[in-house]
Amino acid sequence: MNDRHPSHSRSLDAPPGDTYKNAPLTNFVHQENQDKMRKALNEMRARLGKEYPLVINGEKVFTGKTIASINPSSPDDVVGAVAEAGIAEAERAVKAARDAFEKWRWTSFEERAQLLERAAAIMERRRFELSALEVFEVGKPWMEADGDIREAIDFCLFYAQQMRLIGRPRLTQLVPGEESYYHYWPRGVAFVVAPWNFPLAILGGMTTAALVTGNTVIMKPAEQSAVCGAMLMEILEEAGVPPGVLNYLPGKGSVMGAHLVDHKDVDLIAFTGSREVGLRIWESAGITRPGQRELKRVICEMGGKNAVIIDSDADLDEAIVDCTYSAFGYQGQKCSALSRLILLEENYDRVMERLLKAAASVRVGNPEEPGVTVGPVIDETAYNRILNYIEIGKSEATLAYQRKDVPPKGFFIPPTIFTNVKPNMRIAREEIFGPVVSVLKVRDLDEAIAVANGTDYALTAGFFSRSPANIERAKAQIEAGNVYINRSCTGAVVGRHPFGGFKMSGGGTKAGGTDYLLQFLVPRVVTENITRHGFHAS
Ligand code: NDP
Repeated sequence: MNDRHPSHSRSLDAPPGDTYKNAPLTNFVHQENQDKMRKALNEMRARLGKEYPLVINGEKVFTGKTIASINPSSPDDVVGAVAEAGIAEAERAVKAARDAFEKWRWTSFEERAQLLERAAAIMERRRFELSALEVFEVGKPWMEADGDIREAIDFCLFYAQQMRLIGRPRLTQLVPGEESYYHYWPRGVAFVVAPWNFPLAILGGMTTAALVTGNTVIMKPAEQSAVCGAMLMEILEEAGVPPGVLNYLPGKGSVMGAHLVDHKDVDLIAFTGSREVGLRIWESAGITRPGQRELKRVICEMGGKNAVIIDSDADLDEAIVDCTYSAFGYQGQKCSALSRLILLEENYDRVMERLLKAAASVRVGNPEEPGVTVGPVIDETAYNRILNYIEIGKSEATLAYQRKDVPPKGFFIPPTIFTNVKPNMRIAREEIFGPVVSVLKVRDLDEAIAVANGTDYALTAGFFSRSPANIERAKAQIEAGNVYINRSCTGAVVGRHPFGGFKMSGGGTKAGGTDYLLQFLVPRVVTENITRHGFHAS
């Protein structure tokens, strides 16, 4: 073992988060769960089209303007109309959050942790209802929707546990005559900006981390998943979040969002989304505005161009199933999805033959039906962008596979595989965020690792092999925040797989990890000379 790369996992110290027990997933093999899901879908269908307000300082606000959230499987169906916040509402929300901060910051961490635990219990109670909403609003297949609710529950419970571990002041050193303790203060007002692809888990994870650490929050969902955001607000209100401590502010990212990023009274921005927007926020938040109190902290998680290498001796029964799922599960719209498959010359033909067959077996369709793996992509903009990438792929590489039978209505993109892809091509470098895989053929493992590491991103990566020496190399040398060996490169579990990347994938902040909450806090040390001073009795 060397310092950088422990060679045997059993020699690692027990991780501090390992006492956390994850929430279970729903097993849809059981008829009872299938029945519950069908019932929830029917009930949700009857509720579609409702209007949802902003929530500022505990007040429900309608603005006269709404964001229509549509069903990507059936774009004529409106899932809900959510009030749209503009600059005036953003100003009100900052003021409410600032005022509420003075009380919330001194609320005990135990009370804040219990708020998260109550929210988790409510999510568990409403689990099928929330999953059904995700099926309609963001086109998630059943298991994916349930996985997102499970992750949201895990974030609540894990961050509650983590806060209890770091909440108490601790002595720095034992020295005679002096006592120094180290503890944390919240940063202030947090602006939480989320993507649509994990509409409860990511929005909820960033929000609950900010709340449990004593910050007040302005929560902005992506426009495409604003109804899920409204549900999260409802849940946290039912759990007892005080007015002003959490404010729900859907609206245009480029207008209201940019305004809040630049706001002097916003101390912290927790962002997950595209590289383009993330870098803009990073830059803009670096400018100090008149009246600003703090250096703005930006927690920034962005996209990926994730590679999986299949070694020449890999177990293909395992590799093909996992790669097919990593690439096409939830339409390739996970930041962790496989988008570059790197194959060694030696087994290229064998892998391709099986991969093409596996791709043809994936079920594409409306995710209201159980057993669908590939549903619609999120909206028309994404649909056109991905189709454009497919055209780029056809011009730069070879179209090896494209599914024919996708539903005609809705934003369905056929699962697509390109071969003869070279590392410098656009389809090998740019995030596509859809069910499109680029296959790159390489001579040997050296080249495979160089190609895997040869993009701007470092989010997830995978390696399939039966060679212990090669596995050790992959563990040590692949540049990604989450490296998976002999398993799918998606599906990180809170606490077990702290998630997030570096390079142009993010700031290395690791959602669901033991360091995550520290980003939301400022550390403070108080030192007292405790030799006798003959204090006055009063
Ligand atoms: P976007 O970057 O388009 O949007 C993310 C959020 O930023 C939305 O709420 C959006 O609002 C808001 N926004 C847009 N412009 C601004 C601005 N100028 N100032 C402040 N906020 C703004 O990403 P998507 O929602 O399309 O999500 C997909 C991306 O997210 C992919 O790149 C994916 O890889 C990445 N991602 C990364 C993850 C990770 O952990 N690393 C996890 C999940 C996704 P609006 O909706 O109004 O435009």
